[in-house]
Amino acid sequence: MNAPAPVATRSASPVEGCVSSPVLRERGQHEVFCGLTGIVWLHRKIQDAFFLVVGSRTCAHLIQSAAGVMIFAEPRFATAILDERDLAGIADIDDELDRVVARLLERRPEIKLLFLVGSCPSEVIKIDLKRAAQRQSRVHSPRVRVLSYSGSGIETTFTQGEDACLASLVPTLPGEAADAPRSLLVVGALADVVEDQFARLFDELGVAPRRFLPMRRATDFPAVGPNTSYLLAQPFLGDTARALEARGATRIAAPFPLGAEGTTLWLRAAADAFGVSRDHFDAVTAPGRARAARAIDHSLNMIAGKRVFLFPDSQLEIPLARFLSRELGAELVEVGTPYLHREHMADELALLPAGVRLSEGQHVENQLDRCRAARPDLTVCGLGLANPLEAEGLATKWSIELLFTPVQGYDQAGDLAELFARPLTRRARLEV
Ligand code: SF4
Repeated sequence: MNAPAPVATRSASPVEGCVSSPVLRERGQHEVFCGLTGIVWLHRKIQDAFFLVVGSRTCAHLIQSAAGVMIFAEPRFATAILDERDLAGIADIDDELDRVVARLLERRPEIKLLFLVGSCPSEVIKIDLKRAAQRQSRVHSPRVRVLSYSGSGIETTFTQGEDACLASLVPTLPGEAADAPRSLLVVGALADVVEDQFARLFDELGVAPRRFLPMRRATDFPAVGPNTSYLLAQPFLGDTARALEARGATRIAAPFPLGAEGTTLWLRAAADAFGVSRDHFDAVTAPGRARAARAIDHSLNMIAGKRVFLFPDSQLEIPLARFLSRELGAELVEVGTPYLHREHMADELALLPAGVRLSEGQHVENQLDRCRAARPDLTVCGLGLANPLEAEGLATKWSIELLFTPVQGYDQAGDLAELFARPLTRRARLEV
């Protein structure tokens, strides 16, 4: 059994762990949701934005069922359904889309930012949503800004929807004033409660000014430029990072804020970049670290020593594996990720135990064979694989739940541990 590691007080060194480990690269059938899924959390985050999917009834069904439309009187997303006439090229799609958008904006005057979201069908029939967004922006600005991105499921995974959405926003952000002070931009959608906690910690640390992307109000665009240092809060934002760097911003390298250790190293990377002293950092973060350690402790008995297999799905797999291994004492059988961004993951890879099997991409049948052969105690995977594996007697955790639940930061570290402990507890009860 692995002994759980204490909350780390050191920075990751790029020569340790799995930084140079070989990676099993697979291509084949893969089982993931598409990028439209990101609308589920993004529409709750940017409160005066609206997401108009240009897609099929399947796309509408996915979003409505995933986002629990029943609880929203006026949901901030909808689907412009492409019918047979559109697909056959008989209708003038540009005209129809302009009409749909005009009707929507007339009926919903509170919308300040409209995203036209592409889908598999809109890509297959090559609707130029970028041009459509530019055309409609000209018509509806300054009241409404119209942007576009793709949420298509062709060769993508579901968290890429957020990356594509934020990457579409970056070129529209205002530039910094020439004499702007150095500022911190935290990038990646966080639940409001988590964002508020981090904002308080940055304020106590004296890391200022600090802003968040996405912002809660569409009119509250953060400025960006060479004095912006950005800190990724989510590990799946490669395109957004590239777009920010094209605007002159610089990335602060760090692990991701999952678990007490990840949160400490993430905050410390920002604190170091802004010249915060170690003593002040330790004093500000000590209460959070202590709360997180106590909360994680509840799940420790259930997870320590258990063998965990992570299928590639959310792109959170490597930071989660680090948390499972170092703070919960789990043994990692395989850590799969849809894409491995070596640069953004360097600090995470350095913290994984050496010799862990890393895989990138997916050939689902081969991977299922490896999983069945290993008989892990817990399998973290997409919804489509979870039920069949449960039927075969394996405990599973739906990886999408880790995106829908606030899990970042000190005060959510216990909840994150509990998410992994729960299926093990349930299976232990079933086996009694
Ligand atoms: S975008 Fe593609 S994968 Fe996603 S729901 Fe629509 S058709 Fe299905």
